[in-house]
Amino acid sequence: MKLAVLTSGGDSAGMNAAVRAVVKAGILKGCETWIVREGYEGLVRGNEAAEGDTEPPPAACDNVPVADPGFVQNLRFGDGALLRDGTGDLPGRRTLKGRYIVRAGWDDVRGWFTEGGTLIGTARSKAFRTEEGRLQAAFNMIKEGIDALVVCGGDGSLTGADVFRSEWPSLVKKLREAGKINDHQVAAHGHLKIAGLVGSIDNDMSLTDLTIGAPTALQRICESIDNINSTAFSHSRAFVIEVMGRHCGWLALMAGVACGADFLFIPEDPPSAQIWQDELCKKVKQHRSVGKRKTIVIVAEGAIDDELNPIQAEAVKNVLADKLGLDTRVTTLGHTQRGGRPVALDRISPTLQGMEAVEALLEATPTTPSYMIGMHENKVVRVPLMEAVAITTSVSDAITAKDFKKAMSLRDPEFIESLDAFFETSRWDPHARSAKEKWMRVGIMHVGAPAGGMNAATRAMVRYCIRHGHTPLLIHNGFRGLLDDDVFEPSWLGVDNWATRGGSELGTNREQPDVDLGAVACKFQEYAFSAFVMIGGFEAFSSLKILEGARKDYPAFHVPMVHLPATISNNVPMTEFSLGSDTSLNALVDACDAIKQSASASRNRVFVVETQGGQCGYIATLGALATGATMVYTPETGINLDMLRQDVKYMKRRFSLDEKGKAEGRLVIKNEASSNVYNTEVITKMFKEEGGALFDSRSASLGHTLQGNIPSPMDRARAVRLALRAMRFLEEHHETLRGVPFKARQAAPESAAVIVVQGTGVRWVTVEEMTEHADMKKRRGKTSWWSSYKDLVDMLVARKQIIGEPKPDRTL
Ligand code: ADP
Repeated sequence: MKLAVLTSGGDSAGMNAAVRAVVKAGILKGCETWIVREGYEGLVRGNEAAEGDTEPPPAACDNVPVADPGFVQNLRFGDGALLRDGTGDLPGRRTLKGRYIVRAGWDDVRGWFTEGGTLIGTARSKAFRTEEGRLQAAFNMIKEGIDALVVCGGDGSLTGADVFRSEWPSLVKKLREAGKINDHQVAAHGHLKIAGLVGSIDNDMSLTDLTIGAPTALQRICESIDNINSTAFSHSRAFVIEVMGRHCGWLALMAGVACGADFLFIPEDPPSAQIWQDELCKKVKQHRSVGKRKTIVIVAEGAIDDELNPIQAEAVKNVLADKLGLDTRVTTLGHTQRGGRPVALDRISPTLQGMEAVEALLEATPTTPSYMIGMHENKVVRVPLMEAVAITTSVSDAITAKDFKKAMSLRDPEFIESLDAFFETSRWDPHARSAKEKWMRVGIMHVGAPAGGMNAATRAMVRYCIRHGHTPLLIHNGFRGLLDDDVFEPSWLGVDNWATRGGSELGTNREQPDVDLGAVACKFQEYAFSAFVMIGGFEAFSSLKILEGARKDYPAFHVPMVHLPATISNNVPMTEFSLGSDTSLNALVDACDAIKQSASASRNRVFVVETQGGQCGYIATLGALATGATMVYTPETGINLDMLRQDVKYMKRRFSLDEKGKAEGRLVIKNEASSNVYNTEVITKMFKEEGGALFDSRSASLGHTLQGNIPSPMDRARAVRLALRAMRFLEEHHETLRGVPFKARQAAPESAAVIVVQGTGVRWVTVEEMTEHADMKKRRGKTSWWSSYKDLVDMLVARKQIIGEPKPDRTL
């Protein structure tokens, strides 16, 4: 199959990762892979006006004995570097001028991961909207023998792809009638296969949880707001921040939750046209009255009131300035939101989706629908493209028809929950309290190592408590602090800045309650805890297990108890994500980008990068996938000599295949606990020794830098959502114990539980169930959902094609 990939419509970070994955997966599946420059416009223009090349493409290295010689033929055609350097159209150079549909080889897309936007160009094409334009596009494709197309773009681009596909047979007929193609071509290219990838920063496509580029845009927005926060605080100013999102308030909403904004305007939840100004003033005034020095209002580009009048940032500013006399500034973030290096998630999920797109094309028949590849519940899914577009359009239709309830119902449950989370945590509302007899005294503690999002979760819990009449009691320094009475009651304002803070504001250590269970029980009684929360990693789970186990001896522990997983290792069983794992993955990607740049600058260099993670290879594996590392070592599979022999063989062949003088630096990611014998130093020396004149090697240990600085918006938003779930869980179980005398209290086993993320859903897991799935000695789950990603790392460096040997048994 000859397949082509193009990017169309608005650009977004992660499009390059998607193109890279399509090219690589295509080659692995034996396809001929092409790139179309400048979106549909390139398809229409084709290669008609190609000027003669001034330089030949780089020669393939056919003297290296690789396992699959066919692979070498697809190694490079030389245009990737031109696209990456932007030198493709320079006169006197090998040129891309007049060539819009170009062959792409394996190495042509190397290093594309780190670049924002789209290297192959995107455009809005008027010509492609006309049948004449599409006729020309079909001709250009058939001329090159291409009849399979991956389109990465927004709903407009995907609609265009579907129109093209349904029209294709008639276009072919017309081309034949005009004598532009022959009968053989008609027979060979009777149908067009398409697959769609959603590249959109707004996260506005239905039937997929996350579009390509949305997480990076959110990161850029939150970085800006975090910066504005400090100046707003200094001058006691109000800032009205306009973010992108014409029909979808996802970016504004998530930013509002992650940054702790005061007020939010999104198209799905329009305020009353009559009273929004008063509502805004009332809220801001209340926040100022409790001592807030800064005001942050986020306005989505498409914000409206319930009579569909646009609400613009300037109008919001005027209200704040005129009615409240606040020193107010407007910041329109504009195109900075599109730019910059993709975050880890925008490298991993486009990679998975790009590979799936190729799979879908290979399986497509004239009767199967066109698929859009999306993410649902953390898995790659195929959904009928036109259905996704239709539902997406119906959201805007519902808004236009003022049916806001319907618009909201068409968004996913996470969206609705996040909006609720925003109200719960960002708004001071002294009247929202629940009935007095339901009030709880909630002890909250951090256990284990710090992780991004711990503070955001604590802040959300404190705010929820205050809003509902409960008493939050924050415990410094873990169980040691509890025994030392290092306990305090925070104020609503006191935790205001915690949303964005990294580390642990409470202080944390690895001490478990069994240092003195009796004394801990005594403190539970003394502080009259009616509910207890531990935020942390595996130690927090062990603590929960100990406390739950001790209920038989100590009535004080018969209160609902929650463990909210937060650890950079992501080693808590049964949960796909812990707070902090996204932040640390991003820290790893940042560090590795810099290391790889250095490795590439010195050309022939292998960098062995050591990561934390304890006995869990999550961060190493996902990090390898997100940085395009050549190999990864994890504790789950360990390291043995057979493996190392193969790895050296691979590395030597791969460096020999590089174009002369243009070798790439390569990364090897190794979890710190992969092997006691073959440690980072040994492996680095081994590569150096074996590399000889081909390559040398260095090591870098990332250590505690992986805890990251400011937590990622994804971690912060998730922290808020899970924290509120936890509070409601505590309330529910508190209700069943309420009124029972202290000594007679019998908390059900399910009232001590861990909150886990599975897909987009959230589940409660009892201590017993968790213990069943945990390897308590190695402090990780017995199984891991990401283990197959290790094979992907191998696939994406063509290990089989290059060395061809069966993998040595990697399971320990
Ligand atoms: P996005 O893909 O980001 O939604 P647009 O709506 O601008 O961006 O679409 C990008 C391009 O896709 C358009 O410039 C046009 O070439 C093509 N396109 C969009 N809708 C159609 C359509 N109905 N028929 C044919 N081509 C279309």
